[in-house]
Amino acid sequence: MRDFTLKSYRSLLHALLQAGYRFLTFEEFLSQPKEAKTIVLRHDVDELAWNALEIARLENEMGVKATYYFRIVKQSNVPEVIVEIVSLGHEIGYHYEDLVLADGDEKKALDTFESHLAYFRNYYPVKTVSMHGSSSSKYDNRLLWKNHGLSDYGLLGEPYLSIDFNQVFYMTDTGFAWDGGKYAARDVVENGFDMKFHSTSQVVRCVERGDFPEHAMILAHTLWTDNLLQWYGLHIREFFRNNLKLIAKRNRFIGNLYGKMVKWYWKK
Ligand SMILES: [Zn+2]
Repeated sequence: MRDFTLKSYRSLLHALLQAGYRFLTFEEFLSQPKEAKTIVLRHDVDELAWNALEIARLENEMGVKATYYFRIVKQSNVPEVIVEIVSLGHEIGYHYEDLVLADGDEKKALDTFESHLAYFRNYYPVKTVSMHGSSSSKYDNRLLWKNHGLSDYGLLGEPYLSIDFNQVFYMTDTGFAWDGGKYAARDVVENGFDMKFHSTSQVVRCVERGDFPEHAMILAHTLWTDNLLQWYGLHIREFFRNNLKLIAKRNRFIGNLYGKMVKWYWKK
């Protein structure tokens, strides 16, 4: 059976609901007293914004709230989609990459961060942000916080800075697998849980057995689709892209070339 479809996503949410988990937006998770069995569903909308809307509708149908992080680039920043996801009751945040866009210039990055954040606040009173991994760049977007605090911008949290991943289990769908972490350059976290999944059905079985952790943040990107053509197309693309990333990590020439390609592709 094909995994990473809306159907398999629904089965995951269904299992968690059946097992008595409550779904909180990241903002709620940070601002409410800790309760038993909570899940934060986080969606980094790197691209394919319309897929995010389909996920948001599915969640809304199931009575579940999630947090959507949008980038400033046009593949992610689609006003119609943002407006509709807000109206479905989800949280919106900014998926920032300002330090990379500013080629490491901290002052410039803080300026654009502020104006991009103000832009997204036209749609929603944004209280949380998450960094974009920018795996092909030498800059780490998180270094924006080297000399500044989130509260300087009226923000409550950033997943990588505000969560203790020894307390909260973290899983993400890198490269169409829940254990594809080797392809990610930065958006990886060390955690204290001895738990690994490959397919969504493995996660579902674990939840059904009652072995899934009390608290989890589940990061799902926008590659989940029921459209057969898009599903195959994305699998082929991810296969080549992930292998290119691995080669780029080892070979500087290929790495630079790949970095240039990525920069060109995401140009606003
Ligand atoms: Zn991202």
